[in-house]
Amino acid sequence: MPVHPVRLFGDPVLRTPTDPVTSFDDRVARAVADLMDTVRHEDGAGLAAPQIGLSMRVFVYSCGGREGHLVNPEWEPLGDEKTYVNEGCLSIPGVSEPTERFARVRARGQDVNGDRVSFEAEGILARAVQHETDHLDGVLFLQRLTPDLRKAAMAQIRTSTWFGGAAISAGAVLDRLAEPMEVK
Ligand SMILES: [Zn+2]
Repeated sequence: MPVHPVRLFGDPVLRTPTDPVTSFDDRVARAVADLMDTVRHEDGAGLAAPQIGLSMRVFVYSCGGREGHLVNPEWEPLGDEKTYVNEGCLSIPGVSEPTERFARVRARGQDVNGDRVSFEAEGILARAVQHETDHLDGVLFLQRLTPDLRKAAMAQIRTSTWFGGAAISAGAVLDRLAEPMEVK
């Protein structure tokens, strides 16, 4: 199964909500395998389908000593505790800022065969579940930052060498970056 290039900030696919998976065929199995190969290759904590150009509600995780995937994921907080620590994204290389997330969550969804699965997560895995589910809704962690931190992150992106080509093709993405979002 191939490692895919990771789509970078400025690529419209990252801002487009994905389609739910309704048919558990080879296409889904291939997406999970390719995502897993790519997240291992990049040494990431997680990777969502849009990051390799697929509109599919699927993500993989590889962190906190656990590896797996979730199809059509949902999550709910377990308790009110939130953490505020540095977060990054393979689609936004070199940028890392403190981002508010729930400390513990219960994740639910389906596996590659369509069977229901659910697990509890804390620490980096809880953060990955929230971050990757956001990707499937077309949301980037930049939108979870405080206004000051978001400004700093955007300034860093504008001067990043990787951003040049994406900026030209994506036009007004910088201007359309959504309003601040609270942790839901
Ligand atoms: Zn990400």
